[in-house]
Amino acid sequence: MTQADIKLATHLIHHPYQAPAAFEGPQPAVHKASTVFFENVQAMRERRWLDKSSYTYGLHGTPTTYTLEERLATLEGGLQCLLVPSGLAAIATTSLALLKTGDEVLVPDNVYGPNKTITEGELAHFGITHQYYDPMSVEDLAAKITPATKLVWLEAPGSVTMEFPNLVEQVRLCRDKGITTVLDNTWGAGLAFNAFDLLGDGTLGVDVTAHALTKYPSGGGDVLMGSIITRKQPLHMRIKLCHMRLGLGVSGNDAEAVLRSLPSIGLRYHAQDRAARQLAQWLATQSAVVQVLHPAMPEAPGHAHWKQLCARNGEGVAAGLFSVVIDERFDQAAVDRFCDSLQLFKIGYSWGGPVSLVVPYELAEMRSRATPHIKPGTVVRFAIGLEEVSDLQADMAQALAQAFA
Ligand SMILES: *Cc1c(COP(=O)(O)O)cnc(C)c1O
Repeated sequence: MTQADIKLATHLIHHPYQAPAAFEGPQPAVHKASTVFFENVQAMRERRWLDKSSYTYGLHGTPTTYTLEERLATLEGGLQCLLVPSGLAAIATTSLALLKTGDEVLVPDNVYGPNKTITEGELAHFGITHQYYDPMSVEDLAAKITPATKLVWLEAPGSVTMEFPNLVEQVRLCRDKGITTVLDNTWGAGLAFNAFDLLGDGTLGVDVTAHALTKYPSGGGDVLMGSIITRKQPLHMRIKLCHMRLGLGVSGNDAEAVLRSLPSIGLRYHAQDRAARQLAQWLATQSAVVQVLHPAMPEAPGHAHWKQLCARNGEGVAAGLFSVVIDERFDQAAVDRFCDSLQLFKIGYSWGGPVSLVVPYELAEMRSRATPHIKPGTVVRFAIGLEEVSDLQADMAQALAQAFA
C-alpha cells in the first residue's frame, strides 16, 4: 500500500513522521502503553519478560517505570526495585510473595496499621500464622522465632508512637537464624539511614524494603505508589514473579510525577525535619502536652537507637513526623476541638506533602500489647509540611488556647 491509497483515519494512526530520537531535557519522558510493538514474530518470541533488557507489555515496564525503579534503588541503597500501586500494595505483595501455608510471620506491634489487617485477613485465610512482637525488645523477638518463622517485618520508627527499635540487633538476630527481613522504609525514605548497610561497613542490612512512595518521594500528596527494593537477585525474582502474577502496575503519569519530585526529596526531607523538631521542642514546653514522641528528642522511646543509626555525626536526620500525648485530664472532645481548631494543619492521613496534617489516635485500639512507655492521655500525630514554621507554631498556639484553656 502507498500513502496515497490509505484513508485519513488510517493515515492518522499509521503516520510516517518519526520525531528525531535525540531529545534531552531535565525530566525523563512519560511513556504510556499497554501494547508494546515487536519488530517481527521472532523478536516477539525471543523477548524476555523477566529482565529489563527490553520491553514486552506495558504492565511489565516502560522506559519511565524502569528509570524510576533504578533511581529508587539507588536512593535506598538497593539493587533491584519493583513499583506497585501503593505503599500498602508493597507490604501485601512482599508478604504474599515470601510466605506460604504453614509459615509464620512476625510483625512489630507498632507496625503501620493496615499491615496488621492483611496479616489477620488474607495471610490468615491462606494458613499463614503470625505473632506480634515487642518492637523495643530484641529478646521478645528472639523468643517468638520458631522453625515456622519465615519472615520478620521491621519498622523504624513504629507508626504513630514513633518508638525507634534496635534495628541493628533485630536484623543481626534474623540474619543469624536465616530469616528474611523486610523493613517498612517509608519514614527513613533512604535518607535517614541505609537499610541495606546499617553499620556503614557493608556487613549488615535488611533483605527487603517496602516504601510508600506516596509520602516523601511523591512529595505532593497527589500520588499513590509503592516500591519493593532488594539487593539479592534471587529474592527479587521471587517477589517479581508474584508481582507479575498479581498483575500489578503503575501509570506512566504517576511514575513521572515521582520522577519529577525525586530531585528535591533531600531538600524537602531536611526542611520538614528541621521544622518538625522545632515544633516538637516547642510543644514539649506546653502544659497540655505530657509527652513528645519524636525519635530525635532525648527522652523519646528508642532515642539511643535512632542516634546509633541516624545521627552518627552532627544533629542527625529524621522525618518531619512526630506525635504528642495530650494530658489525660483533657477528654476526647477537647482533643478533637484542638484538631478542629487548627487552621493551617488539615485533618488527614498520609504525610510527606506540602500541607501540614494532624490526626488524633485511639492507641488502645491499635496495640495488642501494653504501652507503659507512653504516658496516659490521647495521642495526636503531626506531619509537617512546607509552610513557614513560625506560622505553624502560631496555629498550634491558638488551637491549644482554644481547646485546653
Ligand atoms: C502511608 C504508609 C504506608 C502505605 O502507603 P499507601 O501508599 O498510603 O498505601 C505504609 N507504611 C507506612 C509507614 C506509611 O506511612
